[in-house]
Amino acid sequence: MQITLPDGSIRAFDGPVTGADIAGSIGPGLLKAAVAIEVNGTEQDLSVVITADSSVKILTVRDEAGLDVMRHTLAAQVLARATRELYPGSKLAIGPTIKNGFYYDVEFDAPISTEDLPAIEKRMKDIIAEKNPITLRMLSREDAIALFTERNEPYKVDIIERTEGQDEFQIYFQDNTDFVDLCRGPHLANLGQAGAFKLTKVAGAYWRGDSKNKMLTRIYGTAFGDRKTLKKHLNALAEAEKRDHRVLGKQLGLIMFHDYAPGAPFFLPKGEILYHELSEAMRTLLLGKGGYQAVRTPQLFDAKLWKTSGHWDHYADNMFSFGDDEPQAEVSDSGIMGLKPMNCPCHMLVFGSQKRSYRELPLRICDQGVLHRNELRGALGGLTRVRQFCQDDAHLFVTEEQIESEVTDLLALVGTVYSAFDMEFKAKLSTRPEKKLGSDDLWDRAEAALQNALEANNLPFELKEGDGAFYGPKIDFDVVDAIGREWQCATIQLDYQLPARFDLKYVTADNELATPVVIHRAIFGSLERFIAILIEHYAGAFPTWMAPEQVRVLTVSEKSFSHGESVKQRLEAAGLRVHLDTRADKIGFKIREAHKDKIPWMAIVGEQEMENDSVALRLRTDLRGKGIPEKPSVDQFLELVQETAKRPF
Ligand code: ZN
Repeated sequence: MQITLPDGSIRAFDGPVTGADIAGSIGPGLLKAAVAIEVNGTEQDLSVVITADSSVKILTVRDEAGLDVMRHTLAAQVLARATRELYPGSKLAIGPTIKNGFYYDVEFDAPISTEDLPAIEKRMKDIIAEKNPITLRMLSREDAIALFTERNEPYKVDIIERTEGQDEFQIYFQDNTDFVDLCRGPHLANLGQAGAFKLTKVAGAYWRGDSKNKMLTRIYGTAFGDRKTLKKHLNALAEAEKRDHRVLGKQLGLIMFHDYAPGAPFFLPKGEILYHELSEAMRTLLLGKGGYQAVRTPQLFDAKLWKTSGHWDHYADNMFSFGDDEPQAEVSDSGIMGLKPMNCPCHMLVFGSQKRSYRELPLRICDQGVLHRNELRGALGGLTRVRQFCQDDAHLFVTEEQIESEVTDLLALVGTVYSAFDMEFKAKLSTRPEKKLGSDDLWDRAEAALQNALEANNLPFELKEGDGAFYGPKIDFDVVDAIGREWQCATIQLDYQLPARFDLKYVTADNELATPVVIHRAIFGSLERFIAILIEHYAGAFPTWMAPEQVRVLTVSEKSFSHGESVKQRLEAAGLRVHLDTRADKIGFKIREAHKDKIPWMAIVGEQEMENDSVALRLRTDLRGKGIPEKPSVDQFLELVQETAKRPF
């Protein structure tokens, strides 16, 4: 029997072999490190018996797949056993792996909290130290149901009962214990191979994700092959937590939420300034020289529009609508109204509202209209998943020949905007999916236009074959934030279908009627989400141009009040956002508060500053070391702040 290894080399065996045999034949080191085996592309336990010629890959925790096996074992055999033993009567639901770790959903008699995690961790370490082997046995449906019924594991029974067309079930037995679990596997050969882990948090989760079911407790853990990598990951988590926009957004007085409006953010006075600055910066960039025209469009439309656009058939679940099939003349023609989830159909109506000539193309329409999408309540979170938001949205109506140059300009625009925030970005080109509308010839040209534009901008890109929308190919962008996390923001999508659905036409140079191509594009994406990203990217310390409070003037004592007031007035007259802190508290306290509020410029005024018409500066850390004078005159200071308060695009 021949076993082919990843390097192409072949090993011959006389009879059936296990994964462990193969690993051992390669070397004792590999046998020790091996956690599972991939046989002809399928992951299996190391104990699997191979009886025919196969291609195999021995998996260790150095492979993503091997690491996944380890994480899965930590959840399904270690965490699960620890909870059953520490909390008799607890019932196990499911324990899958996730990015960087795993979780297990458990029903407890009494709720547990993060304070209980160290004790569970301790028990898990004891379990690992036993180094018990794990053995797979196949049980018939009947036997499996009987086993889990007897063990009072109703969720396991539920899983088996709901699994159709399967007579046998994989049950993993932990040797030397009475622990068993129903599971797809594969598992570590023995628990001694488990690497470094940490339980991170608990959360609520409904059984099968359905709010009609019982709420279970989800215990999250993270795990890596070694302690050092785990530590690095935990540090990154701690850094991300410090930057969490939900925490900073509250602390800095930017945003709030209320149960009466789930998923719809309130932007408080300071947050509104941030929002306005971003929105205006983008609008100013696009209008005039940018070649765009802004429109303001309705939010509520008769269902007739959504039927024309196709949203009614494909997107109705994500839309808020009201009315019923009974036409009500007082509501609208059809009696059903829907809140717009996107601006595209509105812009189709704008384009179609008059006779259009090729001379008007490219026609670029931008709109920061309010959008609503009915996200599941359980999926809502901070500003990143909301039900109400605005995009820096635009639709470009172009001829096919104009696609490449328009996209080339758009890519430059993306670069201009992201570099203003010191953000790197990565482009991804998504091409035709299997289910698509339009001929291959059309797709060839569309994909080539996008690719040529990327190349013209010298932008490296990742090719995502088959990932395009059914109506056209697209380029998506991931921005990389200050701590290396990637967020998908901008998108450029070609669309040949929507203009056809709306029967849009323009008169060509040859006096014929033709249908334009539409480019949907957004740079920030949703402003709400982009603000969340910026809060975390800057850890709340915004550049002066967008900082809600650009300068705080701090008075040392009552004697310098009048000078403080004068500094404030002079800066405000120049359009700057200034707050004057005349509280009777000690100056040290006032400085600490200003630091906590992440104010870029802190101008301290005492008697000496009053005499010299100057200020004593305290700078936020990111502004230090730039040769800024410590005690500039008020005029000099004004100039300094004005310089940094200019919009970068
Ligand atoms: Zn659109």
